[in-house]
Amino acid sequence: MQKFALFYGEALRRYAFPAGHPFRVERVERFWELVNKDGVANSEKVQVCEPVMAYESDVLSFHIPEYVDFVKKASQIGGGYLDRGDTPAFKGVYEASLYVVGTTLKALGMVMSNNASNAFNPIGGLHHAWRDRASGFCVFNDAAIAIMLAKTKYKLDRILYVDIDAHHGDGVFYEFYNDPEAFIVDIHEDGKLLFPGTGFEDEIGSGNAAGRKMNIVMAAGSGAEEFKKGFAKIIQFAEKAEPELILLQCGADGLAGDPITHLQYSPECHRFAAENLYSLSERFCKGKIVAMGGGGYNLDNVARAWLEIVRGLTH
Ligand SMILES: [Zn+2]
Repeated sequence: MQKFALFYGEALRRYAFPAGHPFRVERVERFWELVNKDGVANSEKVQVCEPVMAYESDVLSFHIPEYVDFVKKASQIGGGYLDRGDTPAFKGVYEASLYVVGTTLKALGMVMSNNASNAFNPIGGLHHAWRDRASGFCVFNDAAIAIMLAKTKYKLDRILYVDIDAHHGDGVFYEFYNDPEAFIVDIHEDGKLLFPGTGFEDEIGSGNAAGRKMNIVMAAGSGAEEFKKGFAKIIQFAEKAEPELILLQCGADGLAGDPITHLQYSPECHRFAAENLYSLSERFCKGKIVAMGGGGYNLDNVARAWLEIVRGLTH
């Protein structure tokens, strides 16, 4: 029986910013405590897998060499910012970022080779990084790199990326805007109110990718009922995509009580998303889902939402 691959280890704890930053190491630690307490990490349906470092060549399948060199140098010096003030450099940030990417790619490899039913990298989903720059706590965009590898290494031409983080996943959405092989749907808080200020409903992709991108904008204060209504559009979009693989960025910052957003989701939303995508993946792609954590800055919310993702994808 194939098992769900749940990634955790010391190397994933390294991708965390210095004291006072919302993207802190306690996020993944709190999640890990809860999955252990719940028992799901020890269930016979779950295999716990070690993080893996990516090759630089994998990172270069998406990011430009000048940017990769910039991160490498900043990582040796270990100070200042990688962007205009959200994403600090620290000593070892380059290697920590390679572990995030490598782990998502390992998850992808296990799912594609049928060594896992599906998989979750809690520190993945760094969806704000662009080809040439860091942004919004994201250094290397593991989700975008996974799309690149799904295309080149696994020869897929119908890849579905679903993003339920409260923020618009601009680094994925716009970098694949003209790419007909990447079906991207992103439900997020209105960009007029929230970073990165993008992601509007008239953006549907261009050229032969027209109709293969979708933004679903949620007003501040939207809760579980609104999320489920929005998610019905995601299912319709996903059915038309007939995906060979599903990537899910399941940021937990849309839950009520998050310190940096204004949505009012509940952990039930994450369960709902995971279960619905699981059924869809069974219909179209033999259950192949790679989930990545994304944002979430209230520790209890992160742990509870991601536990529901694990439950929803393991059954
Ligand atoms: Zn976010």
